[in-house]
Amino acid sequence: MKKKTTSSSKSGITSVLQEGRVFSPPESFAKEARIKSLSKYRKLYRESINEPERFWDREAREELVWFKEWRKVLQWKAPYAKWFVGGQLNVSYNCLDRHLGTPTANKAAIIWEGEPAEPGKPGEERTLTYHQLHRQVCQFANVLKRNGVSKGDRVIIYLPMVPEAAIAMLACARIGAIHSVVFGGFSAQSVAERIHDCQAKMVITADGGFRRGEVVALKEKVDEALELEDTNGTTLAGSVEKVIVLQRTASDVEMQSGRDVWWHEELRQVDTSCPAEKMDSEAPLYILYTSGSTGKPKGILHTTGGYLLGVKMTTKYVFDIRDDDVYWCTADVGWVTGHSYVVYGPLANGATTLMYEGAPNFPEPDRFWQIVDKYSVTIMYTAPTAIRAFMKWGDQWPKRHDLSSLRLLGTVGEPINPEAWMWYYEVIGGKRCPIVDTWWQTETGAIMISPLPGTTPTKPGSATLPFFGVVPEVVDEDGKPVPKNTGGKLIIKQPWPSMLRGIWGDPERYKQTYWSEVKGCYFTGDGCRQDEDGYFWVVGRIDDVLNVSGHRIGTAEVESALVSHSKVAEAAVVGRPDEVKGQALVAFVTVKGGADPTPKLREELRSHVAKEIGPMAKPDDIRFAEALPKTRSGKIMRRLLKEIASGEEVKGDTTTLEDFTVIAKLQGEED
Ligand code: ATP
Ligand code: MG
Repeated sequence: MKKKTTSSSKSGITSVLQEGRVFSPPESFAKEARIKSLSKYRKLYRESINEPERFWDREAREELVWFKEWRKVLQWKAPYAKWFVGGQLNVSYNCLDRHLGTPTANKAAIIWEGEPAEPGKPGEERTLTYHQLHRQVCQFANVLKRNGVSKGDRVIIYLPMVPEAAIAMLACARIGAIHSVVFGGFSAQSVAERIHDCQAKMVITADGGFRRGEVVALKEKVDEALELEDTNGTTLAGSVEKVIVLQRTASDVEMQSGRDVWWHEELRQVDTSCPAEKMDSEAPLYILYTSGSTGKPKGILHTTGGYLLGVKMTTKYVFDIRDDDVYWCTADVGWVTGHSYVVYGPLANGATTLMYEGAPNFPEPDRFWQIVDKYSVTIMYTAPTAIRAFMKWGDQWPKRHDLSSLRLLGTVGEPINPEAWMWYYEVIGGKRCPIVDTWWQTETGAIMISPLPGTTPTKPGSATLPFFGVVPEVVDEDGKPVPKNTGGKLIIKQPWPSMLRGIWGDPERYKQTYWSEVKGCYFTGDGCRQDEDGYFWVVGRIDDVLNVSGHRIGTAEVESALVSHSKVAEAAVVGRPDEVKGQALVAFVTVKGGADPTPKLREELRSHVAKEIGPMAKPDDIRFAEALPKTRSGKIMRRLLKEIASGEEVKGDTTTLEDFTVIAKLQGEED
C-alpha cells in the first residue's frame, strides 16, 4: 500500500504507517483535557486492567449515587459476570434526581427539534430542564404503575424521536420495568416478534410520527402486530395487556377499549411524586434487539450498575463533556447508540442532549447543519453512512451554515473510510475538531475502543486505543495472538462493567455466539489488526474478510479504495465463490451526482483499486447501483449482497432491511 505523508507528534507516535496521516490533538484541547497526556492515559489504563477491582470500585463510588454499597466489585464465572454485587441504585435517579438541588436542575436536559412541516418553515422546538424532565418521568412512571406495570415486567417502546421516548425509558427504569425500544421504522411483524420474544406486557406508542413530511402510522402497526399469528394460529403478541398511545400527529386511530389508553389522559389521573425504586446492581435495565445485519436479531440484555457506569464514564472521557456543551448524537433511540449516548450517558453527566425527530435531508440536505447552527451544537456524534451521504450531496450544504460552534466530532457504526474521515474533519470540523472514531457494539453497551480527545493522536480510519478496563486482542484461527499489522479476529479478554449479561431467553445462543471462539474470552465477530503503535483498525465483520487466491483481503479495504475515487459515493464489496481463486471480489458501487456509470468508469475503478491496494484486490466484477441495501440503522447488508453476487435468490431475514425495492433493483441490474 502506498505511503502517504506523515506528521510527528509530541506524544511519541511518529511512525510512518501505511495510512500515514497522524493528527495530534489540538493545543487548545490538550490544555483543557481531563486526561492530559498519553502517559497519563496509559497509567490509568494499566491500573484498570491490572487491578480492575480497585479501579472500578473507586470509579463507581465517584461517578454514581448508590442506595446501598456492594459486597463485591466483580464476580466472574465465564461467561457470566456480576458487577457491584449486592449494590443498589436506580438509573433514573442517577440521571435526574441527583441533579436536583444543584445548578444543573434548571439547565436544559433535552433540547428537542421536530421535523419541519415544509421547506422554509422552522421545526417545532421544545426544551426540558432537568427539573421538568424529572417531573414528567415521575408522572409517567405513575401512569405505568396505574396500568399494571411493575418491577421486572417488559415494556415495548415504539415511538418516534420525541422527548417522550426518553421519558418512557426513564420511567421504566424508575420503577424497575425492563424496556425494549423498537425502532419506529420496523414493521408490524418485527414488533410482534419482539413482543413475543420478551413476552412484553405493555406497548407504548404514538398515533403517528413524522418522517420526511409523511405520517408514519405507528399505532396502526401496533394494532396489526397484536393481531398477528404464528404458523400454528397462536397470537404472537398475546402477552400484551395495555397499549399507551401518545398523541403526536393527531391522526385518526382506533382505540380498543380496555386495552388502549391515551398518554395525556392518563397523566391527569396521577400525581408527580414517584420515588425511584431501589434496584439491584444486576437487575435488568433493558433488552435491545441487535440491528440484524448478520442474521436474526438477538435480544441483548443489559443490567443496571455496570451499564450506567460504562456509559457515564465513556461520555465523560470520550466526549469530554462539559457543563456548557450542546451535545448532539444523531442516532435514533431505537439503536444502542440512542440508549447509551442520547439518553443515559449524557443525562447521567448532567449534560444537554439534543434530539432531532426527522431525516438529515428533509426538507433539504442541509437540515443537520441548520440545527448545528441554530443551537450552537458543540459536540456531534454520527455514523459513517451519514457522513458518506453528506459527501455525496456536496459541500455547498454545510457551507451555508455557521458550524464554528463545533469543537468535537464522533463516529460510530461501521469502519469509517479515511476519505470520509478527512471530509468530516475538513468540511464539518474546519480542521479544528478532533474526531473520535468509537468502536463498540450493542453487546458491549458502551464505547470500547476510541481516542480520548485532547490526548490520543488520531489516524483516519482507526478507532485507536482501548478505553479503561477493556482488553482487546487480535487472534488467529487457533486463538493465538497475531503479530502486529496482521489481520485476525478481535476478542476481549476480560469482563467489563457494561458488557451484555446474555441473550434474552437463549443462554445457548449467548455461549455459542460470543464465548465459543477462544476460551474465557468474548468474541466480537469483527476482523481487526493492530499497528505498530498498538492502534486498532477494525475492518468489519470477520465473515467480510475474503480469501482471494490466497490473499486475505478485507472488504472494507477495497471499499475504502473505491470510495477514494472522486466519482464514487458509496461502495460495498462482497465475495463470490470462484473455482480458480477461491473467492472473487464483487463490488457494488453508487456514483456521485453528475458522474455516469459507464463501462469506462468500471475499468478506471478496477485500475484505481489495483493502484491503491495491489492487483490482487482488483474487483472481478463491478456493478453500478442506484442505492445499496441497508439496515434501518444505515449499515450495508453485505449478507444480502453476497446472495445477489452469487446469483442466489435472496432469502434469510430481511426484516431489518430499510428499503426492499433496492434489492429488486439490484437483482435486475445483472449485465
Ligand atoms: P447484528 O449484530 O445484528 O448483525 P450489528 O453488528 O450491525 O448487527 P451493532 O451492535 O449496532 O449491530 O453494531 C456493532 C458493529 O458495528 C461492530 O461489531 C462493528 O462491526 C461495527 N462498528 C461499530 N463501530 C465501529 C467503528 N468505529 N469502526 C469499525 N466498525 C464499527
Ligand atoms: Mg453485531
